[in-house]
Amino acid sequence: MSENVELIVERHDRLGDALGLDLLLVRDDLLPFPLAGNKVRKLKRELQDLVPGQVLLSNGGIDSNHCRTLAMLGARLGAPVHLILHTEAGSGGPSLELLTRLGASYEIVRPPDIGNALDRAEITLSGKGLSVRRIAGGCHTPAGAQAFCDAGRALIGQWRPDAVVVASGTGATQGGLAAAAFGTGTSVLGISVARGEERGAEAVAEAATWAGAPDIHINFFADFRDGGYGQHGQVTDGAIAYGWKHGLPLDPTYTGKAFAAILSDGFRADYLRAKRVVFWHTGGMMNLISDAVFRVAKEGTSFVRAE
Ligand SMILES: *Cc1c(COP(=O)(O)O)cnc(C)c1O
Repeated sequence: MSENVELIVERHDRLGDALGLDLLLVRDDLLPFPLAGNKVRKLKRELQDLVPGQVLLSNGGIDSNHCRTLAMLGARLGAPVHLILHTEAGSGGPSLELLTRLGASYEIVRPPDIGNALDRAEITLSGKGLSVRRIAGGCHTPAGAQAFCDAGRALIGQWRPDAVVVASGTGATQGGLAAAAFGTGTSVLGISVARGEERGAEAVAEAATWAGAPDIHINFFADFRDGGYGQHGQVTDGAIAYGWKHGLPLDPTYTGKAFAAILSDGFRADYLRAKRVVFWHTGGMMNLISDAVFRVAKEGTSFVRAE
């Protein structure tokens, strides 16, 4: 399987020199797929066994990368996509327009109603004689974790990094990487974008077992959430500005937070000292665009001011 893994690895000397690291980047934001990011890797694997005629049903926030990647893949494969969306902080205008352009149908519900709306949609679609394939939100699935386990094995086998730093949300990305790293001497450091330490680490550990790992220790850091999911403050904004000025695009929901950990002197001293470190870039460019649109609409300016 791992011969087929697409992995774009680049060394960033200027950033590495500034931070005292041998810094490598895995660019899932540059995978050869529209709206590239970690959801491409997960969903391609998830849909490998897609049965023609199946309707794809899933859920996420209005600005969910999982949902728009699913809509894109569905459009490419000719599979209808129906989405149950919930409103979330900072979600801007481009998201729904994109889903409509891709031919996906959607309903917008309040977060407590997501489960019922999914059940109702499944009954309605099945009642029309359609075969429904329900995919967990965030593609938090065994296939998603396996995709990252394979990618992690390819990376570690070739580059033998001391540490991999990655944004961690529902956990299948970090879980798959942690499964790949088990027994290799590479540590996988997940930077939480939403969850607290206990719940986050639990979900990552479960995903690691989906990818075949035993019950392993998970390194999950909740110190860079900067206000919580979809929120961001000075620390994240500073990391984003620093990244862009070094030619590394970062977003406020995911990658800006993970990179803030690498920029933190304390975090580097504790976990990354003078080592070969991989920053696994998980995507998020649409989050940056949505955030900018949202800010411009709110602040009434026609441009985003430099920090
Ligand atoms: C979904 C997402 C993540 C988090 O991945 P999980 O597997 O849910 O932990 C990180 N970065 C980006 C850009 C994402 O869209």
